[in-house]
Amino acid sequence: MNNKIQIAVSACLLEQKVRYDGKEKKHALITNVFLNKYSDIVELVPFCPEVAIGLGVPRAKIQLVSDKNRQKDKQIRVIGVENHTLDVTDELQSYAEKFLLQYPDIKYYIVKSKSPSCAYQSGPLFNVRLRMQADADNTGLSNKYDYDEQTELTSGLFVQMIQTVKPGSVFIEETQLDSEEACEKFFQLIQLS
Ligand code: SF4
Repeated sequence: MNNKIQIAVSACLLEQKVRYDGKEKKHALITNVFLNKYSDIVELVPFCPEVAIGLGVPRAKIQLVSDKNRQKDKQIRVIGVENHTLDVTDELQSYAEKFLLQYPDIKYYIVKSKSPSCAYQSGPLFNVRLRMQADADNTGLSNKYDYDEQTELTSGLFVQMIQTVKPGSVFIEETQLDSEEACEKFFQLIQLS
């Protein structure tokens, strides 16, 4: 029986080459403290929502947009930066639900900052207005977004969905684990709960 405390970690922080550009973002402190030092107490569970929904590596960049013309519960979308018809909102939400079914005991998450999927309060959110435009070959109509200038910061869609389905989940970005002391503090918080 596995009695270790499970911590979900954005896979790119654990040296997995899953980013849109085929690279990783290894975070040495996370590896040293949580993977090496406390490996008898914690188990790191890597996850990459964008690979899990089949976007592949490398892949087109995606972004968070807020379309105020939609119903409130559908306003936040995740669409392609270049190709606005690429909309993976529903897929990312479904993956978050599946993840929670697979890992019902996970409460703690170490996540990659600024990601449209994984960020915790640091993901750029662009305000947009949806309009339809004729396809270049005149075969039909496609979604096209016009951008407002204003942007704000929010959490990635995977994180937003986890918060909705399982309130009380705890998130920390890798940028907050910038010293051994900060990692130890987070570890103590996990042990106390
Ligand atoms: S930030 Fe999240 S979605 Fe992006 S590569 Fe890392 S794990 Fe995958």
